[in-house]
Amino acid sequence: MSKYEPDERGYWGEFGGRFVPETLVAPLDELTAGYFALRSDEEFNREFNYYLRDFAGRPTPLYFAERLTEKLGGARIFLKREDLTHTGAHKINNAIGQILLARRMGKTRIIAETGAGQHGVATATVCARFGLECVIYMGTEDIRRQELNVFRMRMLGAEVRGVDSGSRTLKDAINESLRDWVTNVSNTYYLLGSALGPHPYPLMVRDFQSVIGREAREQFLAREGSLPDALVACVGGGSNAIGLFHAFLEDNVRMIGVEAGGSGDELGMHAARFAAGGHIGILQGTKSYVLQDAAGQVAATHSISAGLDYASIGPEHSYLRSIGRVEYASASDDEAFAAFKELSATEGIIPALETAHGIAHAIRIAPTLPREATMIVNLSGRGDKDLMSVAEYENGRAER
Ligand SMILES: *Cc1c(COP(=O)(O)O)cnc(C)c1O
Repeated sequence: MSKYEPDERGYWGEFGGRFVPETLVAPLDELTAGYFALRSDEEFNREFNYYLRDFAGRPTPLYFAERLTEKLGGARIFLKREDLTHTGAHKINNAIGQILLARRMGKTRIIAETGAGQHGVATATVCARFGLECVIYMGTEDIRRQELNVFRMRMLGAEVRGVDSGSRTLKDAINESLRDWVTNVSNTYYLLGSALGPHPYPLMVRDFQSVIGREAREQFLAREGSLPDALVACVGGGSNAIGLFHAFLEDNVRMIGVEAGGSGDELGMHAARFAAGGHIGILQGTKSYVLQDAAGQVAATHSISAGLDYASIGPEHSYLRSIGRVEYASASDDEAFAAFKELSATEGIIPALETAHGIAHAIRIAPTLPREATMIVNLSGRGDKDLMSVAEYENGRAER
């Protein structure tokens, strides 16, 4: 077995597994059995590929960022255009895969958590397509910040339930989803949005997202006759990054995941789990790196981008870092903001603020690499959703 596959209990090395209350064991066993029965089923994969192509708009282009490359004067930069998928981000790939699984498992009610609302929108979209009941849990603080996405979900027929506990953000929405799931497991499927949570979610989400890297690898080979030297992707829970990286793990290709460096190095000011304050711990069912204080309490986090603003990171990333296969860096709010403007003005592509963290790192390293070098940056999503945040950030900076 490849060292990049988890063991039967969902561990990559010491990371992953299933740390859940007794009541969740049976639903997770049922989900694992359901998924493994279909994982290499031809008919299921044919159906998945059909919706990826005709509903989500795949394959997405691999685009050469000519002007950005020229401006930076180093490595040639290619963009994997997940922003061009239906609903505007990579999250739709996973949502399609899981809703097809839910249908096969005979579930009629879908629940999901959402932070910025992107995963909620992707889930509400596939629920509308398949006529399934949809409940989205969202922290009331996030509901306030992401009015437009809340409205989109409602238009798509979903019920958005506000979560008023804790910090009233993503972590609390996940807790509430798990609670709902335990109560309603007979007819309900929990459609989790990143490569996080208890086994089998990190593996399953990675499998569904790995279409990104399979396409990119094939597209790059066809165009250049070789493999790229480096891959760069932003890392929240880690699904777009592992989706790009997975097909290249056995190749001699450098990979860099970029976390949210936020507004400073102090605990509470960032979401860089591999930086200071990140220690091995357990959060929401999985063992991975978790930002925590000296007493082991989960720390508050901050990022300009809601999609990267989470205290833990998918377990496969912790493993890939521990064996030295993937490098991790971070980009600050300011750097992401600058990269957001740079890509928009130079290439005519407005990236999501999450994505802008990956772009920021590419901008940092491309000039240090030779002109023959090549890199692919995962353009995980489009930035329309972020224009208000960017305007506010700009105003805030002007006042400072
Ligand atoms: C949600 C989101 C992310 C972060 O999630 P991952 O699971 O780390 O990919 C990144 N980019 C966009 C556009 C997103 O919507």
